[in-house]
Amino acid sequence: MTAKTPSELRDLVRGEVIAPEDDGYDDARKVHNGMIDKRPAVVVRAANAGDVMTTVRYARDNGLELAVRGGGHSGPGFGTCDGGVVIDLSAMRGVRVDPRAKTARAEGGTTWGDFNAATHAFGLATTGGIISTTGIAGLTLGGGVGYLTRGCGLSLDNLVSADVVTADGEMVVASETENPDLFWALRGGGGNFGVCTSLEYRLHPVGTVYWGPMFYEIEEAGKILKFFDEYIETAPREMGGFPAFQIAPPLPFIPENRHGDMFAAIVACWSGDPEEGARQFKVFHDIAEVKAEHVGPVPYPAINGAFDGLFPTGIRQYWKGNFVKELTDEAIAVHVEHGAKAPSVSSTMHLYPVNGACKDVAPDATAYGHRDAKYSMVIIAASDNPADDAANTAWVRGYSDAIAPYSETGGYINFMDADDAGRSKANFGANHDRLVRIKGRYDPENLFHVNQNIAPAKSERRSAEDRAKVPEPTG
Ligand SMILES: Cc1cc2nc3c(=O)[nH]c(=O)nc-3n(C[C@H](O)[C@H](O)[C@H](O)COP(=O)(O)OP(=O)(O)OC[C@H]3O[C@@H](n4cnc5c(N)ncnc54)[C@H](O)[C@@H]3O)c2cc1C
Repeated sequence: MTAKTPSELRDLVRGEVIAPEDDGYDDARKVHNGMIDKRPAVVVRAANAGDVMTTVRYARDNGLELAVRGGGHSGPGFGTCDGGVVIDLSAMRGVRVDPRAKTARAEGGTTWGDFNAATHAFGLATTGGIISTTGIAGLTLGGGVGYLTRGCGLSLDNLVSADVVTADGEMVVASETENPDLFWALRGGGGNFGVCTSLEYRLHPVGTVYWGPMFYEIEEAGKILKFFDEYIETAPREMGGFPAFQIAPPLPFIPENRHGDMFAAIVACWSGDPEEGARQFKVFHDIAEVKAEHVGPVPYPAINGAFDGLFPTGIRQYWKGNFVKELTDEAIAVHVEHGAKAPSVSSTMHLYPVNGACKDVAPDATAYGHRDAKYSMVIIAASDNPADDAANTAWVRGYSDAIAPYSETGGYINFMDADDAGRSKANFGANHDRLVRIKGRYDPENLFHVNQNIAPAKSERRSAEDRAKVPEPTG
């Protein structure tokens, strides 16, 4: 039976069903980016995979727009929609660690904060984002870059399997052995293929890391970028992190008279033995004088929350991203000119290295289409003041336009904004056409289109027999 109204839906699902007239609707419709102000017809805060199946069928059978929300961090606000149905997975955040197999299975609404705390207790971790409130699902399905990327690969390289509710409202397992085409597409194709109610990851022995931000005078920015580029080419894989432009926040480790000044920065993370990390960090002190730093041994989950204060829920954001194969002197000059003008403490450019272990995976082994890039670059402007929106957006666009000649046309789909919908082909690179075919197979009507969308091939619909297969339980 399919529900026809939100009240009928209430009888079928265990989680909360929140409509505009209900208390809590204004909270339920919010996503992380405060610039997004959408009013869905109903938000279903799913309690389990069954709720997700029922709600997918409700949206499909009633011809309603459907948005899926994991951590709600999508810059363009893909975790909500106007007038349609939102499946909000924020009540599904259980994590089960198997220390013998070194794997963890986490529900689809888990955040990196949830995940890292659960695995850290076992001395294990996997590649995740740098902010604790970001969802594991959205981040992983698009790629997943963070401090551990060079040693452990992208987040998606560590995905072992997923339980997926497809556009039919049925549950399938995706792994190397079950529905391998879907598993391939999930790893880089974003939210296009269904709702992952749980994701299973490979874990690595990472406990206490040697980590921290180092601030240099902004006049040293060119030298810092040049050094980082040469260093990271061959640096040990235990070394992760990124160079950045950063206005000094009012933190105790920065001299008070420098709060608010613009700096060049490196945030580095050594994921091997922390004592060795202290030695490895010496290279960052040899480039130029470090004017302020906050480095030392830190439990991995703590570094994941260290910058949360710069990106609170509701902060207004605008994003652009490109892959970069080579950081030329001309590109560095553009960064120095534009990065130094970042308009607020939460606005920045980060160059995330995607070399090391990322390059161990063949370019066509997963849907992630840019294994040949050295960096995934992001430019983000963020502020809590709506009056800053126009200037912030203009800064991001001006920077992005200026650096475009020195970047790939494609970028990481998780660093795109709403006006990047036309970049799909370039973003998915050589894997785009196969993604189109698999999208046609699993979502021919494009039910899952509130995302960096892949238009489905019309000729690929799965047979009824295929769709009727009952999955084996996993986990
Ligand atoms: C403050 C901040 C910091 C960030 N830092 C990093 C970083 O360090 N590294 C990095 O790689 N990226 C980073 N990102 C980008 C991040 O990867 C994307 O915003 C990502 O989409 C967030 O996933 P989410 O689940 O939180 O978002 P949502 O808005 O919930 O979802 C994003 C997309 O994924 C889909 N989706 C979400 N959950 C599921 C699910 N369970 N099944 C199927 N589809 C789903 C949604 O439908 C949507 O299309 C950051 C973003 C923010 C705002």
